[in-house]
Amino acid sequence: MSATHTISASSVSQTSPSPSGLLSIEEQTQLLNLQRAILKSIARGADHMEVITQTCRLAESLLPNAFSSVMLMDENYELLNIYAAPSLTPMQIKRANGLRPSPGGGSCGNVIYKQTVQYVSNTLTDDRWADIRDLAYEFNIKACWSIPIFSAESKVIGTFALSSFEHREPSQFHRMLLEIGSSIIGIVLNRNKYQESLRQYEKVFEGSEQGIMVTDVDHVILSVNPAFTKMLGFTLEDVKGKTPRILSSGLHEPAFYQNMWESIQNFGHWRGEVWNRRKNGEILPEWLSISEVRNEVGVVSHYVGTFSDISDLKSAQKEIQYLSSHDALTGLPDITLFRDRLENAVSIATAANSKIGLLALNLDNFKFLNDSLGYASGDKLLRLFAERLKSCLRDTDSICRHGGDEFIILLNNMQDDESISLVVDTLLNEISSPFAFAGSNISTSCSIGVAVYPNDGNDFEKLFGRARKAMSQAKEEGRNTARFFTEKLNTDSLHYLNIAYGLREALAHHQFELHYQPQMNLCNGKITGAEALVRWHHPQNGIQPPAQFIGIAEQTGLIVEMGEWIIEEACRQAMEWQKNGLPPLSIAVNVSAVQFRRGNLAKVILKALEKTGMNPQLLELELTESVLLEDIDHLLAQLDALKKLGVKLAIDDFGTGYSSLAYLKKFNIDRLKIDQSFVRDINTDPNDAAIVRAIVQMAHTLNLNVIAEGVEDEAMLKHLRESGCDEVQGYLFSKPLPADAFEAFINTNILCR
Ligand code: C2E
Ligand code: CA
Ligand code: CA
Repeated sequence: MSATHTISASSVSQTSPSPSGLLSIEEQTQLLNLQRAILKSIARGADHMEVITQTCRLAESLLPNAFSSVMLMDENYELLNIYAAPSLTPMQIKRANGLRPSPGGGSCGNVIYKQTVQYVSNTLTDDRWADIRDLAYEFNIKACWSIPIFSAESKVIGTFALSSFEHREPSQFHRMLLEIGSSIIGIVLNRNKYQESLRQYEKVFEGSEQGIMVTDVDHVILSVNPAFTKMLGFTLEDVKGKTPRILSSGLHEPAFYQNMWESIQNFGHWRGEVWNRRKNGEILPEWLSISEVRNEVGVVSHYVGTFSDISDLKSAQKEIQYLSSHDALTGLPDITLFRDRLENAVSIATAANSKIGLLALNLDNFKFLNDSLGYASGDKLLRLFAERLKSCLRDTDSICRHGGDEFIILLNNMQDDESISLVVDTLLNEISSPFAFAGSNISTSCSIGVAVYPNDGNDFEKLFGRARKAMSQAKEEGRNTARFFTEKLNTDSLHYLNIAYGLREALAHHQFELHYQPQMNLCNGKITGAEALVRWHHPQNGIQPPAQFIGIAEQTGLIVEMGEWIIEEACRQAMEWQKNGLPPLSIAVNVSAVQFRRGNLAKVILKALEKTGMNPQLLELELTESVLLEDIDHLLAQLDALKKLGVKLAIDDFGTGYSSLAYLKKFNIDRLKIDQSFVRDINTDPNDAAIVRAIVQMAHTLNLNVIAEGVEDEAMLKHLRESGCDEVQGYLFSKPLPADAFEAFINTNILCR
């Protein structure tokens, strides 16, 4: 097809070529008219495409027997595509698209390749058309003049060209015509890009969930967005022309604001927590970020403040912090606090040359009482026990509840074993005297194990481990009694050694296997991934759950090597499933604090990713909160290295440990896994339901995703759904399954709830 048939070379006004160099009056008038016509439509607010088409048309009208075209480079700056060519048919445009800039790539290809204007008067012989000569024949192009179009940053972004159906050289008039055309097109394109981004900014401003306020350099408020009004109650009319002082709560010292403005002056921005006041006088905490805006010449012209209301976050934080340092039931300090106290006690006892008694105390028949009285009464009873125990101790001693009906007691600054023995006797007596409870007398007793510093150890692990062993011994030997730790009890450590030895064998002989438990998205009911959980095929004892060996693997450091295998195996399996046609699923792998401390985790993961070809985005590491207690610089560096690999990070068993909001904000975590213990009682304990809701809200404010595990029935699921939880995992959907069973599960289950 020849372009001549389809192109109407309309000639509004024709021009006779002028002698080279100068323009004739007639030509000057024509160019002036052209510019005027285009400027008029720009002023009229014409759309950028309309203006560009008009420019093309006008250029064609000034060069009969030719057509004009605008080509732009694609996003990768590789190929030229037609942006406007009003005289070409869609078929022709398709044919001309995808032009690659090169020395033989035609006039336009050369404009990009050489970054300067190209005048080709004979396309059939000129080398610059060598690669696309067929196009010249097809379109009947005999001459082609092309000129660069520049972006606002002076980069060549495309070409403006006149292609002629006869061989000819451009006159001065034509050169000017092209120049004017290309500069107008450049301006219009840039203006459009600018408006496009303005439109986007406007959308962000209007639609943002964050409050936004813009002030001038003198802090006079110019505009606020709907979220601002929603959160603070002030409309634009209320605050326009005023300064942000109108929001001040009066709770901050002048030095606070002084620091804030100093930071903005020195670094261009500030961010932090601020107490402000709503229109109705209410005070609220905000997470506020202020940035300066500079104009083209680098002078500060505006300030932009964005903020979110963190009231919910604050109360959740308080609640969680309290819960994480105190036992909700008895109000006793939790294990972390208790450990701190023991450490203190050890340093004091070392200096004073005194002893410490660490007691592990377990109620003998609590389970029976709990079952017969009901849980609510059981809880009340535990509180009474705690009170009684406390009443036997001095203020300088400490007590903590270690889950269920087990207590740990710290006896400070003791002279000798006999004085410890005396306290132990008092405790046994006190507990075994009957309780008046719910109208009747209840009898109970307890078993106590004792470990002594410095004889039995000098840290919590050692002392507590030994006190517990002694306590089991007391239970075995008839209850309502106490035992001191003795070396004989240590024969138990044979068990430990046997497992440690067995684990080494297991690694060498491939006795480990991963099982996979599906994770389901609550929005769409789809399975999004799985958690990998390790199992040990013990040659004599059969399948062993991780509780039997992970602890020992951690203590011996074997977990590092095991962990390497686990990570690689999980990736390998994920890729195999993909090969078998399963959709790409994310795989969560548990990582122990020991791996974090001792292994080079980032390197191990990189190796596994490279070896298996697994997409890092699909690998999630489940870290426990104890990981966050590592040395902070080391920790941040490690987390950073992991994030750089592209893998996701989750905090496992969230809510049981130490994590505070301030921490999570810093650590680039992707999601929280709510601990099973909250889910277990969510149906019956309003406290747990409230905690779950608070955790979800807090997590969402921090842009964290939340998954709950241990979901066993529909009622739990309903609670979690109502709490806004994102994903769930639990026996309700499936137990952890061997790889082939998991694959079958995915293939047969389209879960829609
Ligand atoms: P976790 O990471 O909290 O894993 C969840 C545990 O809950 C799993 O126990 C799982 O089988 C169990 N579970 C899942 N759904 C339900 C449910 O609906 N109800 C109840 N009651 N339990 C449910 P599992 O497989 O015995 O693992 C126990 C722990 O061992 C894990 O707790 C994790 O801390 C550790 N572990 C397991 N595999 C690995 C591993 O590959 N590496 C490391 N470092 N630790 C692992
Ligand atoms: Ca886990
Ligand atoms: Ca967990």
